[in-house]
Amino acid sequence: MILECQECKKPIGYKGKKAFSHINCEHCGTTYEMKPSSWRIYMLFPFISVGISVFLSVNFITTEDIFIKAIFIFSVSYILYYLLCVFMIKINMIQYIKR
Ligand SMILES: [Zn+2]
Repeated sequence: MILECQECKKPIGYKGKKAFSHINCEHCGTTYEMKPSSWRIYMLFPFISVGISVFLSVNFITTEDIFIKAIFIFSVSYILYYLLCVFMIKINMIQYIKR
């Protein structure tokens, strides 16, 4: 669970959510959008996750194969982006309002 729905008081989970700019309650369908103040933080996530992935690939992926490095960067940055979103929502750095 990442949030509690204001309408039906049921937990809104992360399942099936690829982006977090808008989220739906899977129980009652209420749509939430990110508060404008949270957007500034949210917009940094792609840069942070790609930055960390590139750093990791440079330091820990020893192969010279550019294809493997690219795959590594794509997948790690995707995972990091996802984790960052979930973490920031959990610690309330990203907040939502009902649309
Ligand atoms: Zn709901």
